[in-house]
Amino acid sequence: MDKSDNNMAVALFGGTFNPIHNGHLRIATELTEVLQVEHIRIIPCAFPPHRVEPQASAGQRLAMLQAATVNQPRLVADDIELHRSTPSFSIDTVALVREQMTPQQPLFFCIGMDALNSINTWQRWEELLHHCHIVVSSRPGVEAPKSGPVADWVEEYRCDDLRLVQKKPAGNIYFCDLTMLEISSTDIRNKIARGDSINFLTPDAVVEYIQQHHLYE
Ligand code: ATP
Repeated sequence: MDKSDNNMAVALFGGTFNPIHNGHLRIATELTEVLQVEHIRIIPCAFPPHRVEPQASAGQRLAMLQAATVNQPRLVADDIELHRSTPSFSIDTVALVREQMTPQQPLFFCIGMDALNSINTWQRWEELLHHCHIVVSSRPGVEAPKSGPVADWVEEYRCDDLRLVQKKPAGNIYFCDLTMLEISSTDIRNKIARGDSINFLTPDAVVEYIQQHHLYE
């Protein structure tokens, strides 16, 4: 990002994307509208620190993301975490992106409710808000934390007035209600393993890539 693009906000959406699916693409699209950003950078993690090694390599997960977003100018496949040889800690990614921005530019790091519920297991999680705002989208069947360290943290930093959040570069947690399609990467992988169709759960280009590379069989 060119530092001269000053007060333009930057939005990031991280995940394993194993594979990317229409649930991800739909909320990423809606996030660009809600947050009024030109585009959202979708960032597959290279070495997910909290999960077993995915069946598709980081390069393959990125290739599927690129195929899914090729005609979607508002959705940008970002390989920032693939350049690091260390585990993909979100704190390192947001700190790196922040370094490339002006101090005034708002930075939004978008996660799902399931990710929020376990955010206290992430490396230096409480420092995230030094660099960015956290935007949380709900997910079918997943509730906000009700007690414990994450609930306390949310209570302290939550702001429901988006215009106030947009005026600051970082420091708030904002909840938004988006269209949550009942699709998961786990379900897609299970369907493939059973020999079921995954058509219409992810773009055709991703279906073709998975078939060509015999992923998740
Ligand atoms: P898996 O089934 O392997 O756990 P997933 O479908 O949850 O994968 P991730 O790559 O873990 O996909 O998701 C990245 C982010 O997208 C997470 O913050 C997650 O909450 C969110 N997300 C995933 N699927 C949906 C969906 N259908 N609706 C809304 N958010 C979603």
